[in-house]
Parts: sequence; structure tokens; C-alpha cells
Amino acid sequence: MSISVRRQHPIQPAYSLTADVQNFLQCGLQYRYARDSHLPWSDSPQLWFGRFVCDCLQAAEQQVRHGLQPQPPWDIARITQLCGAVAARLQAEQIVCRSRTRQQVGQQCVTAAINELGPLLFPLIDEAQIPVSGSRWFPTVAGKTAVQDPQSSHFVLTGTVPALLRVAAADGTATACSLLQVLQAHGIVPAEPQTVLVDFKSAHRPDLHRRTRQAATAGVDADQWRALVLAWLLSQQTALPAAVVVVYLHELSPSAAALRRLRQAQYRRTADVLLPSADSRDAALLQAFSAGQEPPQLSRDFRLQRAFRVIPVAPATLLTALQTTDHAAQRIHACRNHEARSGRILKAWERNNHSPAACNACRARTWCPDFPGR
Ligand code: SF4
Repeated sequence: MSISVRRQHPIQPAYSLTADVQNFLQCGLQYRYARDSHLPWSDSPQLWFGRFVCDCLQAAEQQVRHGLQPQPPWDIARITQLCGAVAARLQAEQIVCRSRTRQQVGQQCVTAAINELGPLLFPLIDEAQIPVSGSRWFPTVAGKTAVQDPQSSHFVLTGTVPALLRVAAADGTATACSLLQVLQAHGIVPAEPQTVLVDFKSAHRPDLHRRTRQAATAGVDADQWRALVLAWLLSQQTALPAAVVVVYLHELSPSAAALRRLRQAQYRRTADVLLPSADSRDAALLQAFSAGQEPPQLSRDFRLQRAFRVIPVAPATLLTALQTTDHAAQRIHACRNHEARSGRILKAWERNNHSPAACNACRARTWCPDFPGR
């Protein structure tokens, strides 16, 4: 008697939105060394800054939600203690900052985020750090599956939703809260409660007009792409959110360089940049600001307005974002197969980074043929 053997289940490739797709889109080769060879990502203080600011804010929110700390504003001792704990955790992951100035800027940014954003945002957060996942097909080319291996015709995409809000205009607080005012301006706060996804960025709000000229090769607004893919991932488990709010945390404590850029944009009246109204005190402060001076303290309302960027979840933009993700996943898969066949890493992986700053901080720069300083 012959006994049938149970068929092996095909192992689907699984990609994390942040750790795989987003990093691969920055540079394939850097991603390969960091992800597969566990080479630390980079020496870049930006990497430390990004993780530090977002992790501190999320840790503060978690402590408030679990009743371990009161609602902000917090005193400086409490914030310093939190910053120390988060910095130690990052150090254990080999993400360190060797610049004292950068550390101070990071702590200023965390203080502004907790004490100015926290009182508005924390009470509205319904859930935080939600793991989400969904299954996608690899894109097809000329009517057939581009990936030759039939067992790997689709892949699993995973991610983490930083925070979910339940918002409604009916509670009467809408007019008092800057975030809800911004949502109302985009028609997002109706009488019925709506779900809004929140994503945090430690950076300044990008000038998309400049970005599209300078980073023509990327061709995508990375923050919008990520926000929409997170919205889709969430929709695989619950309803699609009405919108995504990307919070640019550095706008709460802007650097002198960012204020100079804002002043230039004010002169040019750049279409994309959110500027203060011409007769406001913020506009006058920006106009009077010049190089070498202490940066002016812009009003809290204006800084919050610039920090919130609302991205509506529309079917057309959602489709484009998902197509970008599918193609990136396919390219990762193709590079990995190429490396397995050829045994050559440099030949197999795309080097699609076009930022000299990222190349300068990359750990693979000493042997990468595309490093601009070679
Ligand atoms: S040096 Fe630049 S192109 Fe080369 S691997 Fe690093 S980030 Fe990529």
C-alpha cells in the first residue's frame, strides 16, 4: 500500500513595508547588506534622529494610555528620563548618535512633540502600534506572471499602523483642536465618526515642488506612498480609513535651515509650501529673520498646521501606491534570485540611490562601485 505524501506548502515571500520595500526603494544594495548580512544601516545621525523622536513620542503615548503617566504637558525631568530610556534602547540596536548638538536638537523636538502635540493627539488615539498584513500578487507582464516560480506568484506584505483616531465633529471639540480643524478643511470630519490613520515622520514637511524637480528619478512622493499602503494594509483587517494624517514632528521645533527655506518659499510664493498668511505675525517674523540670527519662535498654531499633512484615501492614488509596492517587491525577489543564481552580490542588486548624503553615510560605500566619492 502506498501512502500519499502531504504536499509541501509553498513558502511565500514576506516583505515588511518599512524594513524591506521602503529601504529597498532607497537603495537595493544597501538594503541587501543591512537586511541579509546584518551590516548596520548607516552612520547617519539622521537615522538615529528619526528613530529617537518617533520612538519617544510613541513611548510617551503608550505610558499615558496605560495610566503610567499623566496627560502632557510634562516637566523636563520626566521627558529627559524618557529620552534616556529610548536612547539606551537604540544603542542596544547599534543606532547611536555621536553628535551632542544632534542629541540636543532631538530632545528639543521630543519636548515639543510631547508637550504641544501630545495634549491634542493622545486623547483622540483609539489604538496604536497595530500590526497589519495583506497578500498581494506580483505584477504581471504581457499577460503572464512576471515571477517564473509558480509557488511564489504572490507575496505577503506586513506593516505597523502607528496610530488610529476615531474623529467626529459632533462632540463639539472639532473647532478647538488644530488637527480636527485641518481634517475639517479637507472635508474629513462628518457627523458620523470616521477612522483616521496617523503616521509619524521625524522630518520637516517636504517641499514637494523642490522634491519633484530634484528627485525626478524617484518619481513618487514617498510619504504619500507609504501612507496609502498603510491604509490599504489596515483595510485588509478593518474598514479603509477616511484619510491619513502624516505628522512632521520636526515642524514643531524647526531648525534655522528649515526656516530659511520657508522664508525663500515665502518670497517665491511656492505653490506647494504651506505659508503663513501675508499679514500675520509669523510672516513678519520670517521676513525679519536672516542668517546668523537666533531662529524666531513661530506661533504654535502655525507650527501645528505645518506639521499636519492630510492625505485623502482616493481609489486612483491608492492603486498607484499599490502598483509601486508590487513592482518594488518583484524587484527585490528578482535581485535575490539573481544573487542565488550568480553568487555575485554587486552584480545582482540594484543600486538605486540618488542621494549623496545617504551614500556618504552608507556602510557599504568603501566597496560600492556607485559611491560618488570614489
Ligand atoms: S554607497 Fe550609495 S549606491 Fe552604494 S550601496 Fe550605499 S547607498 Fe547604495
